Amino acid sequence: MSSRWTMKTATAITTSTVAIARVLLVSLVITIILAIMPTPALASPSSYTPLSDTSINALLLSSSGAVGGESSALTAVTAADFDVHTGALLAPILIPRVPATPGSEKVQQHFVDFFRREMPLWTLEWHNSTSTTPATGDKLVPFRNLIFRRDPPDTKPGNVARLTLAAHYDTLYRPEGFIGAIDSAAPCAILMHVARAVDRALTARWAADRREEGSDDGLEDDEQEPEKGVQIIFVDGEEAWVQWTDTDSLYGARALAETWHEQHHYHHPDGGGVGTFSTELESISLFVLLDLLGAPNPRVPSYFAQTHWAYRHLAEAERRLQKLGMLETKGRLFLHDFDKSRFGGGYILDDHVPFMERGVPILHVIPTPFPPVWHTMKDDAAHLDVPTIGDWARIVVVFVAEWMELEGFVEKVNKEEGEVKRGREKEEL
Ligand SMILES: [Zn+2]
Repeated sequence: MSSRWTMKTATAITTSTVAIARVLLVSLVITIILAIMPTPALASPSSYTPLSDTSINALLLSSSGAVGGESSALTAVTAADFDVHTGALLAPILIPRVPATPGSEKVQQHFVDFFRREMPLWTLEWHNSTSTTPATGDKLVPFRNLIFRRDPPDTKPGNVARLTLAAHYDTLYRPEGFIGAIDSAAPCAILMHVARAVDRALTARWAADRREEGSDDGLEDDEQEPEKGVQIIFVDGEEAWVQWTDTDSLYGARALAETWHEQHHYHHPDGGGVGTFSTELESISLFVLLDLLGAPNPRVPSYFAQTHWAYRHLAEAERRLQKLGMLETKGRLFLHDFDKSRFGGGYILDDHVPFMERGVPILHVIPTPFPPVWHTMKDDAAHLDVPTIGDWARIVVVFVAEWMELEGFVEKVNKEEGEVKRGREKEEL
C-alpha cells in the first residue's frame, strides 16, 4: 500500500511514524515531507485576548442551554446538547449521511433550522458542486457545503478576517449504515454549540465598538483596519467512495477552496471597493479543522510549525479549564504538544489540504493515532464518550471567545439577561 504515501523528499521515516501510519492506512494518508529538523514557531500575527476566570465561568454557564439551573454548567453542556439519544445538537446527526441521500438532507436541514432559530444574525451560504465518483460511474453526484458566517456590522467583505471553523458532515458510502459518530458527527455538534456560546457576546462587543467609534471615524472604507469575523463550514464529500486518492476524496473542500481562491470581493453584491483581502480565501485568518473527535483519551499533536502559536492558545485553554476544575474528563491532556519545538513535516490528508496548498494557515485538531473505531461499524453513538465531547466543546468555546476578544462581554450579556428575566418575574407577580 505504499502508493498511499507521498514522499516529497526521500528521507528516513522513524519507526514510530511507520507504526502510526499503519493505523491510519486505510484512507487518510500521512505525507511525510522531511527529516526531523528544528523549526522556529512563528508568533501570532493577530491580537488574542485571554479570558479572565470570571469570563470563562460566565461563558460556560451561559452556553450550557440549561433550563432552571437544576444542574451544574458541566452536566448541562453534555445533557442538553450532546446526549447521544436526546441531545438537541448531536442526536439528529447520528444517522448515515452519504452525499445526496435523504440522511444528508435531513442533517443539512438540522443545521439550517438551528441557526435560523437560535442565531438569526448568522448568514448562510450554500456552496454546491458536482462530481463523478468511482462508485457511481457517469452520474454526477451533488455535494453541498454550508457556510454559516457572522461578520461585524457595516463592514466591507474584503475587510473582515474570518476565523474559520470546519468539520465534515458526510459519511462513508460503504459499509452501508455507517454512522460516523466521531467522523464527524460530534465535531459538527461541537461547532454548533460553539457558535451559540459566543453569539450574544459578539453582538454586545460589536455594539460597544460601534458606540465608541461613533458613526464616522473619518477614514475611507478602504483605509479601515480589517475586523474579525467568524464562519463555520460544514463540509460535504470528505470521504472517499471507493479508495482514497487525490480525486476520490475531499470533494466539497476541493471545490470550495477553488471557488474561494477565484472569488474576488469586488464582485460581491455589496460591492464598491476592495478592502485588505481580495479573495474569500485570503479572508481566512485561520482554518481550524475538527475531525475524529468524541472517542475517549484523544491525543492531538501540533502538526504545523507555522501555526504552533494557535495550537498553544488552544492547549492553554485546556490547561486553564483543567486548573479551574471545569473539565469532566480526568485523564491526560488532549493537547499534549504545548512545548513542541521540532516539527517533522508529516501531516494527515483531510479537508484542510486544498486550503493549505493555497497558503491558508491551518490548525488541524485530529488525534494521532486515530480512535480504534475509525471507519468501522463501531463508530456509532454507543462508542462516543460524551464527557470528552463536552470537554472539546468547552476548550473550543474558550479559544474562539479569546480569538474574538470577548473578555468582559459575556458577563455583560448575562447580567442584562438576568435583569430582563427578573423584570419579567416581577411583572408576573
Ligand atoms: Zn472518515
